[in-house]
Amino acid sequence: MVGLVGAGGGAMVACGEGSAQARPAADASGAAGLASAAGQDGPLPLDLTGDFVQSGTVLGRSTPGARILLDDVATTADADGRFIVGFDRDAPPAALLTVTAPDGRSVSRSLQVAPKSWRVTSVSGLPGRTVNPPPEARARIERESALKQRAFASEDPLGTGFAEPFDWPLAAIRVTSPWGAQRQLNGTLQRPHYGIDLGAATGTAIRAPAPGLVIIAEADMYFEGGMVALDHGQGLITTYLHMSRVDVRAGQRLVRGAQLGAVGARGRATGPHLCWRMRWRGRQCDPSLRTA
Ligand SMILES: [Zn+2]
Repeated sequence: MVGLVGAGGGAMVACGEGSAQARPAADASGAAGLASAAGQDGPLPLDLTGDFVQSGTVLGRSTPGARILLDDVATTADADGRFIVGFDRDAPPAALLTVTAPDGRSVSRSLQVAPKSWRVTSVSGLPGRTVNPPPEARARIERESALKQRAFASEDPLGTGFAEPFDWPLAAIRVTSPWGAQRQLNGTLQRPHYGIDLGAATGTAIRAPAPGLVIIAEADMYFEGGMVALDHGQGLITTYLHMSRVDVRAGQRLVRGAQLGAVGARGRATGPHLCWRMRWRGRQCDPSLRTA
């Protein structure tokens, strides 16, 4: 056995950070309390659909160029008036969304964010150097961390994938570690696992779940192994970890279904799997909630 996830679901393979119980997402029912719709020319349109739940994302449509404020996080609607917002794993039960049109009209809504429960699970059998990196690895880890932070600031103005439903990145889905759990690695408590681990044989093709711009394409990072990150526009970014092979280059624009590379066990992993992650403006969200 290459790894152990304590979630009782037959999970065998995992990566270095956290794993949780995946509860079915609440349906698009979390918007409540229309607070205001003041304006010169009637109320500002605002449609919201998605997962009003911790780690979920919600698609919005208002008016082109509208300024969007979700609590303290700002974004701007695209030329079609579309935008996306996301809720952290530990988001509080309510969030305030304010939309302001270029003409000054404004509308605010209180969004109810359903809670999820997260388990503590343990993972053993990780390579020790990836749990407690030796001092000589520090420079490399810092360099790769800086590379990630620069890339995660990307926002492709031409990106449209954010507004589309996602496909799963693998043809056959076997969840070995669900998104979001608190993790113990080789006996030490770590940050939550901000990914969903999908078990598959080394070499299995990984495909883009939606159109995206490649912003990271690295063959072998210290923790992540082979890593690809895609910018889907509007601040929505997905990442793919532990890959044995990377078939794309940074700067490429990919269509849905384009092959990113192949499943592997590089970096902080107990065996071959894909760790699939998603972030929105620094918040960690569950990409599987965007699949049909
Ligand atoms: Zn993972």
